[in-house]
Amino acid sequence: MINSEQKQNLGKLAAEMRSRSYIPYSHYAVGAALLTKSGKIFTGCNIENAAYPVTICAERTAIFKAVSEGERDFEAIAIATEDGQGYPCGSCRQVMVEFSQDMEVMLADADGNITVETSIRDLLPGAFTPENLL
Ligand SMILES: [Zn+2]
Repeated sequence: MINSEQKQNLGKLAAEMRSRSYIPYSHYAVGAALLTKSGKIFTGCNIENAAYPVTICAERTAIFKAVSEGERDFEAIAIATEDGQGYPCGSCRQVMVEFSQDMEVMLADADGNITVETSIRDLLPGAFTPENLL
């Protein structure tokens, strides 16, 4: 569990990351801030592409950055959108549960205020996880 100060910090960082979004098509800016269990923070933004399916979400940008730096255990992620109601898509939920089946998920608005507090367990019940392949 993370404390309220950590939550606020993640919300602010996620909101700041919206300015890095590359969104010439949707104009829908999303930022993410991911806290690892080792205490590091990785951020991400959504990055669109003229070939639409190649687009990647802010959440997966942050998670893939973390994994590429050797981090695989995640405590929490904050996802910021303009209105604070942008839930992670199905692909991002599946990527989250691959690494941390108990991670907290928070939504934040454009100012970084936390609007929703939930968990990947609640967002993806009955998930297909690495344990299914053992
Ligand atoms: Zn997504």
